[in-house]
Amino acid sequence: MPSRRRFLLSAAAGVAAVTAARRRVLSLAAAATAANPAAASKGPPYAVTHTDAEWRRLLTPEQYAVLRQAATERPYSSPLDEDYRAGLFACAGCGQHLFSSRTKFDSHTGWPSFWAPLPDAVATGPDWSLAMFRTEVHCRRCGGHLGHVFDDGPPPTGLRYCINGVALTFAPGPA
Ligand SMILES: [Zn+2]
Repeated sequence: MPSRRRFLLSAAAGVAAVTAARRRVLSLAAAATAANPAAASKGPPYAVTHTDAEWRRLLTPEQYAVLRQAATERPYSSPLDEDYRAGLFACAGCGQHLFSSRTKFDSHTGWPSFWAPLPDAVATGPDWSLAMFRTEVHCRRCGGHLGHVFDDGPPPTGLRYCINGVALTFAPGPA
């Protein structure tokens, strides 16, 4: 069965390529850590910074778990998931405006979902937790963890910003 054999060979080559690419990313990350351990552990300098004790005081336990410890809220637990009023969603950690209701859509995942953030509002980085590769989304102003971005969203971007509602505050008004 030459066609099946060819498929298996190309599948094996694909796996090898992905493994090699991952190894490259990991070694790059390791090199960056060696060059600047402070940057690797704390991320870039943020306009809003607090000590861990201050964050614990400023945030609710649920907000702290998501924003500062990258926890994920239970799906369908946030009232913002099904809130489609016009307005702006801001970071619960620092108040930075992050998303407009104009880009919100129903992803049926149980988490507030957007196809684009506001300009310069968020940053992304690799997340290797849970034994899978995902792209983490965090607030550009305070570094707070917001959620992840996936490439299965609707037009016009094709992106799905899957955001923990507890990491957001919502202000109804012009979007
Ligand atoms: Zn923030």
